[in-house]
Amino acid sequence: MPPLPDRPDDAGAAPRSPAQLAALYQELILDHYRRPRNKGALERPVAVGEARNPLCGDEVEVSVALDGDRVTDARFTGRGCSISQASASMMTGLVRGRTRAEVAALRRRVAELLAGDAAAAADPSLGDARALAGVATYPARHRCAAMAWEAVERALRP
Ligand code: ZN
Repeated sequence: MPPLPDRPDDAGAAPRSPAQLAALYQELILDHYRRPRNKGALERPVAVGEARNPLCGDEVEVSVALDGDRVTDARFTGRGCSISQASASMMTGLVRGRTRAEVAALRRRVAELLAGDAAAAADPSLGDARALAGVATYPARHRCAAMAWEAVERALRP
C-alpha cells in the first residue's frame, strides 16, 4: 500500500522530533520571559490575586478588569524564574475575553498538560502555553508553571 499523501494543510509544517519540539518550547518560554506580554499593573483593576512559590522565590500578582463575568483585561507583575514569569505572560494573553468558567477550564487544561496529558499538550486553545508541556517531566517546576493560574483564580473568586 502506497504511503498516504500529505494533507494540503500539512504543507510547510515539517514534522518535529521530540528534541526539536523541546528546543522550540524552550525558546518560547525564554521569549515570554525576556519580552513579557501584559506586564504591569492595571490602573483600575477590579480584582487582584497573587501566588508565591517559596521554592524558587517566584512571585506573581495578577490584576484583572471584568465586564460582568468576562475578563476584559489582565496584567501581571512579579519576579522569579523564567518558567513562572513566562507562564504569567502566556496566561494573561489567554484569559482576556474569557468568562470565569472558561478561565477555570483553561487552568484545568494546563494542569492536565503538566500531568503529561498528550491531548492537552496539543490543545490549540492553550496557545503558547503549550510550551509548558516541556515542564511536565520536571515535577519540581510544576508549581512555577501553575502559579500564575492560581493567582488569576484567586482574583476571579467570587
Ligand atoms: Zn520557579
